[in-house]
Amino acid sequence: MILGEGNTSVGVDEQTFYVKASGTELRTADENTFVLVKREPVMDLLDRGQATDSEIDSVLNAAVVGENKAKPSVETLMHAYFQGIPGVKYVVHTHPISVNSILCSKNAFELLSGRIFPDEIVCCGLEHVFVPYVDPGLTLAKEIRQRCEDYMAVHGRPPRSILMQNHGLIVLSSSTKEALSACKMWVKAATILMNAAMLGGVNYLTPEQAARIEHRPDEEYRRRILAKE
Ligand SMILES: [Zn+2]
Repeated sequence: MILGEGNTSVGVDEQTFYVKASGTELRTADENTFVLVKREPVMDLLDRGQATDSEIDSVLNAAVVGENKAKPSVETLMHAYFQGIPGVKYVVHTHPISVNSILCSKNAFELLSGRIFPDEIVCCGLEHVFVPYVDPGLTLAKEIRQRCEDYMAVHGRPPRSILMQNHGLIVLSSSTKEALSACKMWVKAATILMNAAMLGGVNYLTPEQAARIEHRPDEEYRRRILAKE
């Protein structure tokens, strides 16, 4: 990680969550790294859909309710949305080199159009939400919300992974262990995907093979074990 890249949030209750302060680093995280933020004013801004950079700044600063009054990251907007999805407690957003190599390539969408090995399905999910590049902050949070709502309308459950073109990875989870395994598995899957693409082409699992892994009892058991804290 270079600079204060990526950010994480943890839900406290329906109304508040902790999110990384702007410019702080996860690797040196301490009690000053995270700020406690109220969801409602941030969601009002998201619903309004339009604001200047300084208006966004003042809403985010005013939404801080804890003792640490550091400035919340502009990505707090998307965290506020994710923290309102039932079952989501941990939102981990990173910019891994391998995942971003794919997300910054010309064929990002096509390369990510299938699953390539069973553990990837167990940890990262059968499908993910792909978000084309848009301006970070409010525009990105709106785009993410729309695409996640579309996903949930089709699948009836929240996505486990969101991949943002030319930007990075987000995983949603109810446990830290599950979130960590999804992040690590994405880094591995992206590396394998790149190597396979260079070795003559990717041999994707068929949709039937992938769905079989998702629903096998032994794999469901492994997923439950992963989800336990
Ligand atoms: Zn980011």
